[in-house]
Amino acid sequence: MTARCRGMEDEAVCSFCRLKGALLCHIEPGQVGLFVISQIPYLGLALISLGFVGAATRTWWPMAAFAAVGLAFLGPVEMRFLCSHCPHYAREGRWLKCMAPNPFPKLFRPRPGPMKSHERIIIAAFAGFILSFPAFSLAGAIRSLPVQQQGLNPSLLLAAAVLEGALILSAVQFCYHLTRSFCRRCLNLSCPFNRVPATAALEYLKMSGETNDAGEEQSRN
Ligand code: SF4
Ligand code: SF4
Repeated sequence: MTARCRGMEDEAVCSFCRLKGALLCHIEPGQVGLFVISQIPYLGLALISLGFVGAATRTWWPMAAFAAVGLAFLGPVEMRFLCSHCPHYAREGRWLKCMAPNPFPKLFRPRPGPMKSHERIIIAAFAGFILSFPAFSLAGAIRSLPVQQQGLNPSLLLAAAVLEGALILSAVQFCYHLTRSFCRRCLNLSCPFNRVPATAALEYLKMSGETNDAGEEQSRN
C-alpha cells in the first residue's frame, strides 16, 4: 500500500503538519455526503437512460450489464485492485473508512506497495465502462428507434436526445467534481486518477518514513 503516516492513527501528530487539510488523511465533516451527492446526477441519469433504452427497444441487457459491472466494481474489483493499496484500507476494522462509503466489508488483505500496471488498467477500464456505456447504449437506441417504431412520435426522439445531452454533461460534471475535490487530495497515490501535486505526495511519503527516492518512485509508480 502507499506508505502510512502515523498521524492517521493519532491526530495529535497532525497539529503542525503542513499537509493538514491538503490531503484527505482523515474523514472530514460533510466529505462523505459530498462524495455521494456528487455521483447522484450521473448515476441517476445513467439508470434513467438505460431504462429508456429498455422500454423503447425492449432490450434490457444493457441495464443488467451496467448494474452487474457497477456492483462488481464497487465490491471485489475496486477493493482488490485499488483500495487494498490505499493507506485507509490498512486501518483496523472489517469496514472501509474513507470519504467513499462502501457497502461491502473488506474482502481482501491489504497489499503493500503501489498498484501494478495491470491493476491500473483494470481500474481505468471499469471506470471507462461505467462512464461511457450508458451514453453509447442510449445513442444506439436513438439510432434504432425509427426502424423499430413505425410512425414514431418526434417528441420521443427529442426526449431521448435531451437525455443523451444531460447524461454526457453529468458525466463531465462527475469527473470534474471528483478530480477537483477528491483526486487532488487522495492518499492512494498510485491510482491512475490520482492528482495530488508531486510536492505534497513526496511530503506525505516523507511523513510516512519513506526515503526521498523511494517516495518519489512510489508516489508515481
Ligand atoms: S500527513 Fe500525516 S501528520 Fe500530516 S495531516 Fe496527514 S496524517 Fe496527519
Ligand atoms: S480513498 Fe479511495 S482508494 Fe482509498 S480506500 Fe477510499 S475509495 Fe479506496
